[in-house]
Amino acid sequence: MDCRLRRGATTFGSVKTPAELTETFRANGLKVTPQRQLLFGLMHGNTVHPTAEALYAEASERMPGISLRTVYQTLTDLASMGELRLIDVGSGATRFDPNTDDHHHVVCSSCGEVRDVYVAGSDRLKVDGLDGFTVEQASILFSGTCTACAAEVDKVSRASARGEERKPTNPKERMS
Ligand SMILES: [Zn+2]
Ligand SMILES: [Zn+2]
Repeated sequence: MDCRLRRGATTFGSVKTPAELTETFRANGLKVTPQRQLLFGLMHGNTVHPTAEALYAEASERMPGISLRTVYQTLTDLASMGELRLIDVGSGATRFDPNTDDHHHVVCSSCGEVRDVYVAGSDRLKVDGLDGFTVEQASILFSGTCTACAAEVDKVSRASARGEERKPTNPKERMS
């Protein structure tokens, strides 16, 4: 079955500036508080796909007293306006992404780093078994080891190769 993704009225390549988000919030009848403006600023150009808790920690450093509830509410409002994407990389907590482009993700299973990737032809995938299901969105998650973690593993294994020689395994020793 040919699976064609329905493209909504998403603006491609858009990461709104804090000023534009302020406008959007006001246009939706929402109050823009200094706390919310701080969060707009922290999310602008943010490529780490933070969790609400991580963003809360960062916001608290700059504005002590900001509540986790405000952070959640602001993120949820932005998401419902289509200015943020909620993503799940299997780590248990929802991550927030200000990049509303049609893109996918790669996650390092060692350090948890999440990066954006673009997949050519993802809207023309041949999918079996949809049986008339209307697909609105599809996300592809690549997982593996990032270059920094791979280099770290390489360094450790080289160090242990240089170090103590491993005792030859006793062939008589059996696993019980
Ligand atoms: Zn990593
Ligand atoms: Zn992303």
